[in-house]
Amino acid sequence: MTTLPVVQKILSANDAIAAENRAALDAAGALGVNVMASPGAGKTSLILATTQRLPAGLRLAVIEGDVAGSIDADTMAAAGIPVVQINTGGGCHLDAPMVRSALPHLLPAGVDLLLIENVGNLICTAEFALGAHVNLVVGSTPEGHDKPYKYPGMFAAADVVVLNKADVAAVFDFDLDAFQRGVRMVNPQAPIFVLSCRTGEGLEAWVDWLVAACHAEGRRSIPV
Ligand code: MG
Ligand code: ZN
Repeated sequence: MTTLPVVQKILSANDAIAAENRAALDAAGALGVNVMASPGAGKTSLILATTQRLPAGLRLAVIEGDVAGSIDADTMAAAGIPVVQINTGGGCHLDAPMVRSALPHLLPAGVDLLLIENVGNLICTAEFALGAHVNLVVGSTPEGHDKPYKYPGMFAAADVVVLNKADVAAVFDFDLDAFQRGVRMVNPQAPIFVLSCRTGEGLEAWVDWLVAACHAEGRRSIPV
């Protein structure tokens, strides 16, 4: 009886700051995307492959969430992308206060699209609102087609799903129909993009969707 109210209090404090983050993003005219996946699915690769295909003039910034280190942020910076690294110090997810601390370093320079690479983890990352407009869940074929069945909460929370490493699906006996059925069991409408960051196949449709989301008038009505 004592633990549940405490958990609710922590979550609502996070939600309040997530709402502040959303307001800051909206004031800046930036679309925030919470990029979630297990370690190694290809979050960083997807961000890099996406940036190479964004229309000229669309201003991108990235927040890199990691338990430790700055390998991915260094990669982004080397590609000329404005980036802030957040180290969670062992924490398994980003939370709204962490994102709030990064926004003043990025938004004043002008941002149309903010990609927030969460800590690699398919369990709790979706439970902590960051203020992003879009929850993106990235799966990959080596992980197996059973992931939506084993981590339904993540896929239920997705506004959009990307399946990466499509080029090696056969090597891993990946069953695309089973994966898509698993997503649809918990999420009837999130678009599913099947692509490969390595070969570039399928990336164009994903980037088109993302750019359209950036320009969508209605995105500000999406609840935090
Ligand atoms: Mg990464
Ligand atoms: Zn966590």
